[in-house]
Amino acid sequence: MLFSHPEFDHHEHLSFFCDAETGLKSIIAIHNTSRGPALGGCRMYPYATDEEAVRDVLRLSRGMTYKSALANLDLGGGKSVIIGDSRKHKTEALLEAMGRHLESLGGHYIAAEDSGTSVSDLKIMGRQTRHVAGIASRPGFDGTPSNGDPSPVTAYGTFIGLKAAVKHRFGSSDLTGLKVAIQGVGNVGFRLARHLKQAGAELWVTDIHTDNLQRAVEELGATAVSSSDILTLPVDVVAPCAMGAVLNDHSIPALKASIVAGAANNLLDRPEHDEALKHRGVLYAPDFAINAGGIIDVFYERTGGSPDNVRAHVETIGDTLTEIFERSERTGLPTGTIANELAEERFKKHAAGAGLAPQRLTCTG
Ligand code: NAD
Repeated sequence: MLFSHPEFDHHEHLSFFCDAETGLKSIIAIHNTSRGPALGGCRMYPYATDEEAVRDVLRLSRGMTYKSALANLDLGGGKSVIIGDSRKHKTEALLEAMGRHLESLGGHYIAAEDSGTSVSDLKIMGRQTRHVAGIASRPGFDGTPSNGDPSPVTAYGTFIGLKAAVKHRFGSSDLTGLKVAIQGVGNVGFRLARHLKQAGAELWVTDIHTDNLQRAVEELGATAVSSSDILTLPVDVVAPCAMGAVLNDHSIPALKASIVAGAANNLLDRPEHDEALKHRGVLYAPDFAINAGGIIDVFYERTGGSPDNVRAHVETIGDTLTEIFERSERTGLPTGTIANELAEERFKKHAAGAGLAPQRLTCTG
C-alpha cells in the first residue's frame, strides 16, 4: 500500500514513530538525499486520518527535494508531521519525544519549523538531537539580528523573483508605478509589500486579519480591498502570500494581471493549471522557485555562511526564474513544468553513487 501510494514517488525512507507516554505519533519522510541531507519543516496538524498524514508528508517531502535542488543547495528533500492539534496536544514531553525520533535517523533528516511548530518548539526538540535547524540567533542577511525566522529572507527572495518576472515581461526591472495586489500581508506578505513600496510600486492588499491589513494601510499607504476581489484587480502583478490552491478553475479565467509571483506554497490547485496560466498569457513564477529564501537561509545557518553569502545566494532566485521564463518561451512548455525539469536535472545529476550515504549527511551546527 505504501510503495504503490500515488504520492510515493521513489521515497528513500519513511519512518513512523509512536510514543505511548507522550501521545506522540509522527512520520518522517525522506524523498531524496542525492544532493545532501534531507531538510524540511516539521508540521503539526490534527489530520483526520493516518492516510491524510501519510499523503501530506510524502507530498511535502518530495516538494522539498525540488525546492532545494532548484535553489542549488546541497540539501535533499524531507518533511515530518506530528499528528495532533498544536493548540491542545503540544507539550514539552511530546516535543522531546519528537527530538528522539529525529535523533534515531542520525542526521539523514533535519527538521525546521512549519505550520503548528515554532522556533521555540524546535529548540525543545533540540534537547534530544542536534538535527534541528532554523533556530540560531545570528546576524540576518540584511545585517539586522535574526532569531531563525525565515520570513524576512523569504520575502526578500520573493521580491527579487518578482522583479525578474517584471523584467522578463515588461523589459525593465524598474518598479516605479508598478501595480501589485498582495493576498495576505502576514510575515512574508507584509515584508514583500515594504520592499515593493520602497521600490516605488503601488499596492493593493487584503487579509482576513484586520490588524495585519491595517498595518499595511497605515505604514505603507496600501489600498485595502476585500478578499474576494484581490485576485481579479486590474493590476500588473498578483502576489499570493496567504494560502495554496488559489490558482484554480475560478481564479485563472478572471485574472487581469499578467504576472503571478507570490510566496505561498502549492499555488496551483491542480497541475494542469500551469498550462492554463500560460494559455491565458499570464507569466507564473513557480512558487517553489520564488519562495526558496527561507531554505537558503537555513542552509547557511547549518554551514556557517555569512549574511553576505545568504544575500548573494538569495539573489540567484532571480537568475533561476529568468532561466525558467526563457526556457518556457523556447520550448512552449509552461513555467511550472520547466521548473520541475530544471530541479530534476539538478538532483538527478547528483544521484549516481549518492543516496543515504553517511559522509554526505554531515552538516556542521
Ligand atoms: P502568515 O501566517 O504570517 O501570513 C499569512 C497571512 O495571510 C496572514 O496574515 C493571514 O491572516 C492571511 N490570510 C490567510 N487566509 C487568507 C485569505 N483567505 N485571504 C486573505 N488573507 C488571508 O504566513 P507567512 O509566513 O507569511 O507565509 C505566507 C505563505 O508563504 C504561506 O503559504 C507559507 O506556506 C508560504 N511560505 C512562507 C515561508 C516563510 O519563510 N514564512 C517560506 C516559504 C513559503
